[in-house]
Amino acid sequence: MLAVIMEDYGAADVLSLETVADPQPGPGDVLVRLEASALNHFDLDLRSGVSRIPLDLPHILGCEGVGRIEAVSPEAAGRWTEGDRVMVLEEIPCGVCSVCVSGHQNRCDEGSWVGVSRPGCYAELIAVPAHAVIALPDQRPATDWAAVQAAFGTAWHMLVTRGGLRSGERVLINAVGSGIGSAALQIAVNAGAEVLVTAGSDAKLSRALELGAAHAFNYSEPDWAQGVLAATTGAGVDLVYDHVGGDVFVQSLGLLRPGGRLATCGAHAGETVALDIIELFRAERTIIGSRTFTRPELETVVRLVADGHLNPVIDSVLPLAQMAEAHEKLERRDHFGKVVITPTAS
Ligand SMILES: [Zn+2]
Repeated sequence: MLAVIMEDYGAADVLSLETVADPQPGPGDVLVRLEASALNHFDLDLRSGVSRIPLDLPHILGCEGVGRIEAVSPEAAGRWTEGDRVMVLEEIPCGVCSVCVSGHQNRCDEGSWVGVSRPGCYAELIAVPAHAVIALPDQRPATDWAAVQAAFGTAWHMLVTRGGLRSGERVLINAVGSGIGSAALQIAVNAGAEVLVTAGSDAKLSRALELGAAHAFNYSEPDWAQGVLAATTGAGVDLVYDHVGGDVFVQSLGLLRPGGRLATCGAHAGETVALDIIELFRAERTIIGSRTFTRPELETVVRLVADGHLNPVIDSVLPLAQMAEAHEKLERRDHFGKVVITPTAS
C-alpha cells in the first residue's frame, strides 16, 4: 500500500510517500480501506519530537481516518461486513481498567493510540480491533467525515460535558480558526450561547462571524481582552474554551465573570503560566481540564453531523503525496477548519 512514512524526528521533509507492505489484520481485527484522513496539530508535535511521546520509528502518523471495511478476521465475523463505512477511533481504550469500567474511557492510559503507539491513517489501509471503529451513515462524503472526530468530539466533551455549557451563556472561544475552534463555535451557537471568538487574523475572524459568532477579536492586538470586556459591558464571560495556553490563557482567565469556568485542552503557546490564586478563589472561578472524548459522545456528534445540525469545516483537501505541504500549512496556521487528506498519490 501507499503510506507516508516518518523516518526521523524533524521538519516536514522527514515525511515521504512510500510503498510498504499491507497491514495484516490480527485476531479480532478488521482491515479498513481508508477513504480520507485528517491532520491535527498533534501530528506536528509528534513529528518534530516536542510531544514528549516517543515513537517507534519508522512510523505512520495520522490519528483520524474513515473508510470501508475491507476484511474481517474470523474472531470479528458477524460484527462488521465488507463494505461497511466506519470511522477509526483515534484512542483505543483498554476496556478493563478502573477508568474504563467507570465510563471514562477517554482517561485510559492502558490502551493504544492510532498514529502514535500503533500505525496511523496516513496510508491506504489500517488494521485495528473490531471494537475500535464506529459505523458511519452513507450520506456526506468521506472527506466530511474525516473532519469530524477530533474536532467535534473534543469540542463536545470540553464545552458540553466538562464545561457544562447552557443556553444563554456567554462563551469565549479562543483560536477559532483551528479544527476544534471552528467545531466549538458551531456547538455553542446551536446551544443558544452568545459566542465571542479570538483568532490571529482578521480573515479568520470574518469566517467566524459568518458562522454565527457575535463578536470577534484579534489576539495579536494588545487590547483584545479589553475589547472582550467592553462587549460584555464589563461583566465578563461565563465560559472560556481555550486550547492556546500561555498569555492567552492567563488573560482569558481574567475575563471570567465571578463563578465563571475556563476549560482547557491544549497549550501550544505556553504550557506553564503564572496564576494569581487570590484572584481565582475570590471570584470563585473554575479551571477545568478536558481530554479527548468518549465513544458515546462521538456517536452523538456523528448523529448531529448526519442530520445536518453540525457541519465539518474543511480548509482544504490534499493527497498523501502532498503531506509535507499539508504539515507546513498547519505549521503556518494558514487554515480555517480541517486539512483533510485523501489516500492518493496525486
Ligand atoms: Zn482502560
